[in-house]
Amino acid sequence: MKFSIVTIFPEMVEAYLGASILKRAIQKGLITVSVHNLRDFATDKHKTVDDYPYGGGVGMVMKPEPFFRITEGLWPVREERKILVPSPKGPLFDQEKALALSQDKTELVFLCGRYEAIDERVTEHLADEEISIGDYVLTGGELPALVIIDAVSRLIPGVLGDSRSSEEDSFSCGLLDYPHYTRPEDFRGIRVPDVLLSGNHREIAAWRKKRSLQLTMERRPALAERYASSPEDREIIERIKEEQQ
Ligand code: SAM
Repeated sequence: MKFSIVTIFPEMVEAYLGASILKRAIQKGLITVSVHNLRDFATDKHKTVDDYPYGGGVGMVMKPEPFFRITEGLWPVREERKILVPSPKGPLFDQEKALALSQDKTELVFLCGRYEAIDERVTEHLADEEISIGDYVLTGGELPALVIIDAVSRLIPGVLGDSRSSEEDSFSCGLLDYPHYTRPEDFRGIRVPDVLLSGNHREIAAWRKKRSLQLTMERRPALAERYASSPEDREIIERIKEEQQ
């Protein structure tokens, strides 16, 4: 799968892409991530990428020309790429969206904003989608681009050592993940739940399902309502409610 990031801080994203799982995915050729410096597409000799806002107000606005030049120069064929603009104003990115993007056959291109905003003509006429990673404001689109690339990449077959890891993650079946433990069995008197040491795989699976449902009911009740739809899940939920009373 192909990703591209357009930014005025290439070194920020290169550092993250140069380590751990994404680094290995790139080395194995499972993903490619091209990083482009927006300043190289500025039209003046000072490599200007921002200017004062029309109408006044605080902060600078990113100019449209460099974004149009790079997009039209490097990704001229609309059908072959999807232009994503990270923005707190976009629809919220979630696991469902990560899965949809991981199945997208086009190159995903991120145009990262900085300062007060990107000129609206970029979002209106270049972007296929605006996308937000949460209801808070960051200083730039680089972290959102990396967050999305990370979440999408781990769903691509071969990127994780064992694909069951992503299948069992929080949200993958709509519920929060169950608690995990490793050695030692007893840490400062805090013991690993007995069932996990029992070797009884049926009981372990039942315990994990129950804990997953319990956590989701406590922390994200709307998710529990939405995804715990099978008769078995409903039965477990009723039992949890009885225990809580
Ligand atoms: N004035 C803008 C607003 O209130 O919507 C915020 C601009 S922010 C300081 C600069 C850039 O950071 C944005 O253009 C966007 O690329 C990125 N950004 C900030 N928060 C984000 C979020 N929650 N999700 C996605 N991108 C975000």
